[in-house]
Amino acid sequence: VTFKDLGVVDALCEACEELKWKKPSKIQKEAIPVALQGKDVIGLAETGSGKTGAFALPILQALLESPQRYFALILTPTRELAFQISEQFEALGASIGVKCAVIVGGMDMVAQALTLSKKPHIIIATPGRLVDHLENTKGFNLKALKYLVMDEADRILNMDFEVEVDKILRVIPRERRTFLFSATMTKKVQKLQRASLQDPVKIEV
Ligand code: AMP
Repeated sequence: VTFKDLGVVDALCEACEELKWKKPSKIQKEAIPVALQGKDVIGLAETGSGKTGAFALPILQALLESPQRYFALILTPTRELAFQISEQFEALGASIGVKCAVIVGGMDMVAQALTLSKKPHIIIATPGRLVDHLENTKGFNLKALKYLVMDEADRILNMDFEVEVDKILRVIPRERRTFLFSATMTKKVQKLQRASLQDPVKIEV
């Protein structure tokens, strides 16, 4: 199976080739076709499985079809993960000119506000700092968001970001696609799943 077989457009298949991703990983093989059909996805997968590619490729493909600022929000528990995700989006999306903003704690709010004002397509954030910007950065909102990804949802919830995630869910459109990835399916993750996904397809690798 190739990325092309999964429905990935040529520009993004070429990006995979450049990254030396010769063939899709298991989670990519299962999640990409479902995501490209416009369905919500729950992926039970660990870091190292290629899960970032599994959500980044369908999002980039949708962005290519209808470019827009603040197109997708990726929530992740730590800043290290946020930067890793951003690197993959930028590598996969380089040829289509994708702009990403990493919004994490411990860094300058003003500089981040400036980054947000520059029309990024993809925001990769830790929940606490994102809420800070939603509440305090003039002109910034997520009313046009099309895709939400909750990456490592079990860790997000274990780090007590529940209140922040709830706040974020309240200010983004209902009409969106949502992908939830988690290494484990805990009670808290199930509750989040019910609150945020519509008729999701569950994929376990
Ligand atoms: P992730 O699980 O998303 O954190 O990805 C783990 C590592 O696998 C990253 O360094 C990716 O660049 C790499 N990777 C993702 N998909 C593939 C693939 N299809 N073939 C080879 N490497 C991949």
